[in-house]
Amino acid sequence: MEQFQFEDLIITPRKKGAVKYAKISYPLRFGVFSEIRNSAYTYQFNLNGEIKTIQGRGEGWLDAAEWLKRTVGDDWVYFSAGGYTGAYDYTGEYYVPCLAYESNTVYGNGRFESSEVLNAFAAWEQLQKRLQSLDLTSLQPDAANCIRQIIDKSPAALKDRAERFHRIIGGRVTVLPPDTRHVEYDVIPVNISDGCLYHCGFCRVKSTAGYKVRSETNILSQIEQLNEFFGKDIINCNSVFLGQHDALFAGADIIEWTARKAYEVLRLGSAYMKEPRLFLFGSVDSLLNADNSLFSALNRLPYQTYINIGLETADAQTLSILKKPLNPDKISEAFHQLMAVNHQYANIEITANFVYGADLPETHLPSILGLTRHQLNRSYSKGTIYISPLENSGTKQELLSKFIEFKKLCRLPVYIYLIQRL
Ligand code: SF4
Repeated sequence: MEQFQFEDLIITPRKKGAVKYAKISYPLRFGVFSEIRNSAYTYQFNLNGEIKTIQGRGEGWLDAAEWLKRTVGDDWVYFSAGGYTGAYDYTGEYYVPCLAYESNTVYGNGRFESSEVLNAFAAWEQLQKRLQSLDLTSLQPDAANCIRQIIDKSPAALKDRAERFHRIIGGRVTVLPPDTRHVEYDVIPVNISDGCLYHCGFCRVKSTAGYKVRSETNILSQIEQLNEFFGKDIINCNSVFLGQHDALFAGADIIEWTARKAYEVLRLGSAYMKEPRLFLFGSVDSLLNADNSLFSALNRLPYQTYINIGLETADAQTLSILKKPLNPDKISEAFHQLMAVNHQYANIEITANFVYGADLPETHLPSILGLTRHQLNRSYSKGTIYISPLENSGTKQELLSKFIEFKKLCRLPVYIYLIQRL
């Protein structure tokens, strides 16, 4: 790893970070990247020269362990360390992503209005201008090339790149599965289907279109274009999200075909980042329709697979308020099916979402405990439950104390679902 000093800038063109995502209580950088450091900030760039993270230090920064991260969809996320007591208990992560756009608002209000964050963005723009004014002829070729790439990826160019990325997959990913937290939300999305089965009244991400599976030609074209889009940085990507809202309903053949094609074309087997993962959403009906041959096929894939199912509640009155066209028996059947799959298949974890709202009936939370406590004979480590706050969740304090009360009784891991887009 060679380092170059240029006035006050320390430039490392190709720095090697961790090869696996890990949950640890200090900031860890993953993959291969370029880095520019000065006395106030450390800037991290991917292998295409796109800004990836900004981390400040000293008096002008909020917390030495916290950082800003840019997503492939050109959003900035602020990773917060410990401003919230017991962040790990609430989210399963030591660092909580705070978002710059409207989402469920349990965490991170106001981060993007703070002078520290605004100054960090201003400093990044100044760095761009500074790099443009440098005489690169005196620099080593590696450092000069690295800087040229970074100059090319101006904020306007990054916005264009994100638009291209969204065009390839046919629009924004409106919501990522909660399990993508295991890879810090760094996934390559490949849409294998559009729409969903239920069009529930409460849902903010549903599309109006009916459910449709995409053709192999369309899917392959997405994968090939994504391979070209990620370019040199593809070695840092090892996880795939099969979109959109109910990829599980697309069936075993197309799921397996897409997962294997993505693995081959995106060369995930030789990526710098190890332990590839596959993420998808499913629904109650797609889970109940799936048979052992589908799960056996998923279990054989060269990925650890996470399927997230929206169960929402096991209470009839709440289902009717949510306008979800299902009944408690079916929810219960789906819950037991997911527990059985988790037990049987080592490489698959099916997780479930339940909603939380301040004005939902008193019978709602007990209905979830009916499944996750009273119908389980012991605690299990697989089958994570995500609690998804609705628009009216009461005060943050009320929500968090209800959550802790629930968590103590539940026999499965429980975390809050933070809705994040790409
Ligand atoms: S909760 Fe799921 S099934 Fe219901 S409308 Fe939203 S995306 Fe569709």
